[in-house]
Amino acid sequence: MDNGIPHRLTCHCGAVELSVRLTDGFATARRCDCSFCRRRGAIAVSAPLDGITILRGADNLALYQWGTGTAKHWFCKTCGIYTHHQRRSNPHQYGVNVACIEGINPRDLGAVPWVDGINHPADQKTG
Ligand SMILES: [Zn+2]
Repeated sequence: MDNGIPHRLTCHCGAVELSVRLTDGFATARRCDCSFCRRRGAIAVSAPLDGITILRGADNLALYQWGTGTAKHWFCKTCGIYTHHQRRSNPHQYGVNVACIEGINPRDLGAVPWVDGINHPADQKTG
């Protein structure tokens, strides 16, 4: 489904546009039930840190950090859509919002496995 070809990723309003090369195509698609992801509700796929290029709207991205502050969650200031985040479980990876990738309907991914985010080892204090 993916051979390292860069995908185009956009927020809803179009202010933010990224070029994204995925780690292993859509095989890494996951949901997470940590306190943040369960509210956000997005399916994320993995990308290497050098796999994301911001084509447009870098100054329109807002950063949200919580808990340990390790993870960096980016979203569009205008439309509020989550585009990508730097992972806490593996800071050498980004997770990107599958639903923002051009031409991808997340429904086509079928059943997506869940990550046990609520029991994350880095969460002793914040849960
Ligand atoms: Zn936007």
